[in-house]
Amino acid sequence: MEKRAKFSIWYYLIVFLTIFLLQILLFSGSAVKEISYSAFVDSLQAGKIERVVITQQKIIGLFRAPKDSLKSAATKSAKGEKGVIHEIYKKTPWSLQLEKYEEELKRQFQVVRVDDDKLIERLQAAGVDFRGKIESNWFSNFLLNWIIPLIILAGLWVIIFRRMGPGSQVLSVGKSKAKIYAEDPKNRVTFKDVAGIDEAVEEVKEVVEFLKNPQKYTRLGAKLPKGILLVGPPGTGKTLLAKAVAGEAGVPFFSLSGSDFVEMFVGVGAARVRDLFAEAKQKAPCIIFIDEIDAIGKRRAGGVIVGGHDERENTLNQLLVEMDGFDPTIGIILMAATNRPDVLDPALLRPGRFDRQILVDRPDLNGRVAIFKVHTRKLVLDKNVDLRKLAAQTPGFAGAEIANVCNEAALLAARKKRNKVTMEDFMEAIERVIAGLEKKNKLINERERQVVAYHESGHAIVGHFTPGADPVQKVSIVPRGMGALGYTLQTPLEDRYLMSRNELLGKIKGLLGGRAAEEIVFGEVSTGASNDLERVAQIARNMITVYGMSKRLPNLSLVQQTQQGFLGEGPQTSAHSEKIAQLIDDEVLEIIRECYQDAKQLLTEKRDKLEKMAQTLLEKEVITEETIVEILGPRPQS
Ligand code: ADP
Ligand code: MG
Ligand code: ZN
Repeated sequence: MEKRAKFSIWYYLIVFLTIFLLQILLFSGSAVKEISYSAFVDSLQAGKIERVVITQQKIIGLFRAPKDSLKSAATKSAKGEKGVIHEIYKKTPWSLQLEKYEEELKRQFQVVRVDDDKLIERLQAAGVDFRGKIESNWFSNFLLNWIIPLIILAGLWVIIFRRMGPGSQVLSVGKSKAKIYAEDPKNRVTFKDVAGIDEAVEEVKEVVEFLKNPQKYTRLGAKLPKGILLVGPPGTGKTLLAKAVAGEAGVPFFSLSGSDFVEMFVGVGAARVRDLFAEAKQKAPCIIFIDEIDAIGKRRAGGVIVGGHDERENTLNQLLVEMDGFDPTIGIILMAATNRPDVLDPALLRPGRFDRQILVDRPDLNGRVAIFKVHTRKLVLDKNVDLRKLAAQTPGFAGAEIANVCNEAALLAARKKRNKVTMEDFMEAIERVIAGLEKKNKLINERERQVVAYHESGHAIVGHFTPGADPVQKVSIVPRGMGALGYTLQTPLEDRYLMSRNELLGKIKGLLGGRAAEEIVFGEVSTGASNDLERVAQIARNMITVYGMSKRLPNLSLVQQTQQGFLGEGPQTSAHSEKIAQLIDDEVLEIIRECYQDAKQLLTEKRDKLEKMAQTLLEKEVITEETIVEILGPRPQS
């Protein structure tokens, strides 16, 4: 990363400056006035020298202090120069000592020794106090000039590398940074810690089974998925689920984040990928987990590439190469997580790569109860805490938000010095978390929830009673991450090869049922149906132009079959005249109008059922086929 590069350059500069300054401070400060030997002898004879220390190479000495200066110094310290002011600073013995030392330092001198037989005689004659000293000069020089700076330098390096964080060592640039999860039995995450996303857990369990016992699968010739992509909104527990797989599988688990591949040096990302797979192959069976794969897996620039390949693209290409290059039967499973599947490069999702996608969605009511249970396990709860009620109060919350609520509630209780967490703490915590989420526009309000409930009920009821429409399997008002506020699960159009005109009309009616219900109940329509309307328009237009099902233009295909002329992509307009274009529009409008009328009429007749279903939905958030049949009665035969 660029930021890191700048950072380290600054640190180098600071290191060098510091060393430079230290050199100056340590070694220039001790410079003592040096005099010539003859000057020394002269001073000696003149009686100007007080005492000396003689070493093998030099003589260090102290000039006698001038008489008057000594005196004045003595009076100064006794009285204080200006009396009053100096009395405030009472001199401690320590500061007096220091003063004396400083004063002596000024009188110090040193002389390089020459061969002088009479030195001792001269000293004695001058009445100088003298002493010898064996100086291990070599050692102290070595220590001062080499060892101490080295220690300081090493210390600084250590500090800097600590600061820059682990894995930033320049020398290990091309190495994979994957963490291998140690199987610390105390902190191990298991499936017990993951709640509310049971379907996803079921699917990954199979992977764990495979890794524990690969022969069981390969003996039967079963092909296992190479790559598993966990897809879902933020905070729903994708990373948690991957860790749980690691905890359960008991095999090495290489985990790193997509952004770990994006580095400051060109080619590092690709090298890391190579290294990671090489390491994993040695440790198979094992799991490789790439969190937030969108950081490297973004769609590559299509068409003409102007600036050549960029770093991220190289990394992605290397990843694709490695994925194609390993044989899953040796027991490597690649897992990845993302909350932006829409930006991923389609090449990543092709068969043989991340060919299995697991949806990790926001939990429904029961799921939230289960997650509350997980996160309150370690809390001391008051008797009045009702987890079901809490779950009902938190529609649209993902696991991370629920964990947040529990933590916040515990903090509130601690702040109020309670020894148990009460329901009131939880309610306050929920309010706080909601306030945070509302700022990010992530929650829907009560009124919106109602609209969604009636809208989805509308789809379900029309779908249930209209011959040709698909049977409804599941209705949900749990907000989904990617746009839709609720959904109704029906067998999709794409799975069918042949459809009659009636079936297509039934399909359109079902899609319009949502908006019709809104109009009946609330007297106005909302923007929530835009996706429905898009699909309605597409089906209706295809009925006229592709399938030749119109009244005025029967059996006429109006599609210009080009190589891109996929059925789903709509007709090419240039194939026909203005007049026919007008006719198409009229026919399309007529189909939609009729279907909407039918849907509205049906819902008005079944108003009581609509109410009942919407209320059930508001209460339970998700209802499945059985409950739908319970409310609406058996499906009429078509
Ligand atoms: P994601 O990777 O999907 O963004 P995380 O796995 O990082 O979400 O979830 C963050 C935290 O939220 C987890 O560590 C866990 O404490 C909590 N959490 C999220 N989902 C769940 C869940 N389904 N069950 C229990 N805890 C969850
Ligand atoms: Mg995550
Ligand atoms: Zn709808």
